[in-house]
Amino acid sequence: MCSIRQNLEQVTSQIDNAAQKCGRDASGVQLLAVSKTKPIEAIAEAIEAGHRQFGENYVQEGVDKIIHFRPLQPDLEWHFIGPIQSNKTRPIAEHFDWVHSIDRSKVARRLSEQRPSNMLPLQVLIQINTSGEASKSGTGFDDVRALAEEIESMPHLTLRGLMCIPQPEDNYDAQIAAFAPLSALFEEMKASYSQFDTLSMGMSGDMDAAIASQSTMVRIGTALFGARDYSQRGEK
Ligand SMILES: *Cc1c(COP(=O)(O)O)cnc(C)c1O
Repeated sequence: MCSIRQNLEQVTSQIDNAAQKCGRDASGVQLLAVSKTKPIEAIAEAIEAGHRQFGENYVQEGVDKIIHFRPLQPDLEWHFIGPIQSNKTRPIAEHFDWVHSIDRSKVARRLSEQRPSNMLPLQVLIQINTSGEASKSGTGFDDVRALAEEIESMPHLTLRGLMCIPQPEDNYDAQIAAFAPLSALFEEMKASYSQFDTLSMGMSGDMDAAIASQSTMVRIGTALFGARDYSQRGEK
């Protein structure tokens, strides 16, 4: 079995190669280590290997990990990437640094209201539903600008860009086609929002296509930490 350190090296070189192939500088692609369902020990191993950015999907699990690591390692950056129920926004606002999965104004408003004023603004992305009816999460393309305008007026949020989770596709060309509308929208919106610099797309199975499609942040779980075991959770 490969160690998490070796997996980090392997994924980093995959990012380098994918960037090089499309003429991009690899420093423009950040690696977010998705540690959902993984134990403290796995995260500690990634930290030991020098990694600092972690993504979590479940509020309580993520908050428990943040509280565990903050005193030990205050320079970590925690990203909430899972679906958000509007009655669960407070712990997200009080603990995380980033949120990738904002898809409606009610959630954005609550996050801004509940963000403690002694913390930096929450760095947020709007999640776009790029797969149409096939997926429940995410804002439609028609509604994104209105939501972006609202977020821009919220004092404790900083709008940094867009995120998507397309339907899984094995085929590279199909992956490219799935990412294309979001990268076009990102390019277009960058002109209107000064702090717009983050396009969060790409997971273990489609990171090469995401990088070729101008992703600036890939969210990688399985390729770093191995397959997930959901049997303890009863949710996915
Ligand atoms: C689980 C998850 C990932 C990581 O997926 P892998 O295929 O394990 O790399 C990335 N993004 C989101 C939103 C996730 O829920």
